[in-house]
Amino acid sequence: GDPVLRLKNLNYIYNPGTAYEKHAMKGVDLDIWQGEFIGIIGHTGSGKSTLIQHLDGLIRATGGELFFQGENIYQEGYSMKTLRQQVGLVFQYPEHQLFEADVLSDVCFGPKNQGLSDEECRQRAKEALQMVGFPETLYNASPFDLSGGQKRRVAIAGVLAMRPKVLVLDEPTAGLDPKGRDDILDQIALLQKTTHMTVILVSHSMEDVARYVDRIIVMNRGEKIFDDTPKRVFRHYKRLEEVGLAAPEVTYLMHELRAQGIPVSTDITLVEEA
Ligand code: ADP
Repeated sequence: GDPVLRLKNLNYIYNPGTAYEKHAMKGVDLDIWQGEFIGIIGHTGSGKSTLIQHLDGLIRATGGELFFQGENIYQEGYSMKTLRQQVGLVFQYPEHQLFEADVLSDVCFGPKNQGLSDEECRQRAKEALQMVGFPETLYNASPFDLSGGQKRRVAIAGVLAMRPKVLVLDEPTAGLDPKGRDDILDQIALLQKTTHMTVILVSHSMEDVARYVDRIIVMNRGEKIFDDTPKRVFRHYKRLEEVGLAAPEVTYLMHELRAQGIPVSTDITLVEEA
């Protein structure tokens, strides 16, 4: 069958023909299959956000083609609205978009806009909140009274309530402390495993992504430079360091030790000395 998403020679230029012209995506080819757990990593400015904004049609490529489930999304008459429901994008600091009086209403917002009944909306919201491990006792709390990690779960649930086929998360751990970071990544990994949803995790940190995903896409200056399993990508650690992805070999070691059930600190310097 077809991949869930296929990018063919995708290019994107910001502000073409002006002094601010920026070629932010250069000839990217990429196939993403249903049920994959993918990490997109790269230094700040490498083009990760630009890439993922194409996936739900938020920005339109200046060159190349993009297929969702075999259909060219740039063909005339293609419904971007439907695409946006199927490819759920969770932005950086999504909690800035929480605004309803209570958690449940906030998560209901998307389904309600789709015209679903109150009952169906609540059902979907509860299901989504369970998927992100949000405690039932806080369903009626104000989103503003929650911790950073809880706010983020609510925001992710808001996208899940739309029942997307693909979930795209842009730096979901940004601004969280190490514990909050691990909790949210564990939860995303669990969600991916239990639902077999296609999940795309964007990060500038190799450490965050490598432990969880099946496949890593490495971006550098708008180009895709690696696309492989974490293990095989790590073999290129010299090149990874050159493109600003720190100490992947240490991360690799941590990954190996954890896999053997040996507890290791998330503090890279400690592991390096050990
Ligand atoms: P990342 O998500 O990896 O940090 P981005 O996709 O945000 O990278 O940015 C890729 C490149 O495009 C960077 O050089 C950035 O400065 C540039 N860029 C991003 N957004 C805009 C914009 N709205 N206008 C002009 N240039 C932009």
